[in-house]
Amino acid sequence: MAILKDKSALVTGSTSGIGLGIARALARAGANVMLNGFGDPAAIERLRGELAAETGVQVLHHPADVSVAREVAALVRAAEAAFGTVDILVNNAGIQFVAPVDEFPEERWDAIQDVILNASFHAIKAALPGMKRRNWGRIVNVTSAHGLVASPFKSAYVAAKHGQVGLTRSVALEVAEANITCNAVCPGYVRTAIVEGQIESQARAHGLSPERVIREVILATQPTKRFVQVEEIADLVVFLCGDSARSITGAAIAIDGGWTAR
Ligand code: NAD
Repeated sequence: MAILKDKSALVTGSTSGIGLGIARALARAGANVMLNGFGDPAAIERLRGELAAETGVQVLHHPADVSVAREVAALVRAAEAAFGTVDILVNNAGIQFVAPVDEFPEERWDAIQDVILNASFHAIKAALPGMKRRNWGRIVNVTSAHGLVASPFKSAYVAAKHGQVGLTRSVALEVAEANITCNAVCPGYVRTAIVEGQIESQARAHGLSPERVIREVILATQPTKRFVQVEEIADLVVFLCGDSARSITGAAIAIDGGWTAR
């Protein structure tokens, strides 16, 4: 069902994991898609070509490092130049680092704020003028259950994700009359590269085996006791981008297997 035909989307951090799943779902719903993110150029080109061939929409990739403000602006400009518009902006790029707050390396703190919170601000700032001109837009910030509640050893990530939820609410209020919505989706644990890294670092922090970290640390917070699937998040984002969701704005929507219901 091509509910997003004639729309164009930019998804940051979409060369793997949740972002790739969202990009794939948006393309299948009919939107042109600008991919962004790191990885092996040949593998990214293969991915881009396969998605374009499968869906028939335009799929491009831009290698901007979203931790750098001017690269975020260049990314938005490149998508607008290629497609004419950025109707849908998904701020998804994210990184993680786990350490006690009094040992947290400053450069890791700064990098997490830059990739998650500051990049979202810079992308929204760059994309909004075009959305306002067309009187239509959808902004989805992929935050986290950690945008709503905290865990120990993740101060930088929790702060950045809570910041993204606050940014979401302010932007939603500012643009509500312009047919632009801004929402946060807040996933629980999804088994992607970022979580594989956490399994290793949590195992070190807690002195547990990776199997025990999955069972006793990671999925301990998630009442369903299973990882959230990428496709579930992607379907939610497509719904938020459609016209049926035009009254949903400023929301922080948990998709976390019941984690934040506690
Ligand atoms: P992932 O590591 O698989 O994907 C991260 C993506 O971001 C990759 O495409 C990577 O290349 C890109 N990226 C990283 N730094 C970048 C930078 N400086 N510039 C441009 N791109 C950059 O991780 P994921 O699990 O798919 O995470 C996606 C988002 O979902 C993140 O914001 C993450 O915090 C959030 N999230 C993940 C989980 C989970 O359990 N996996 C849960 C809640 C929220």
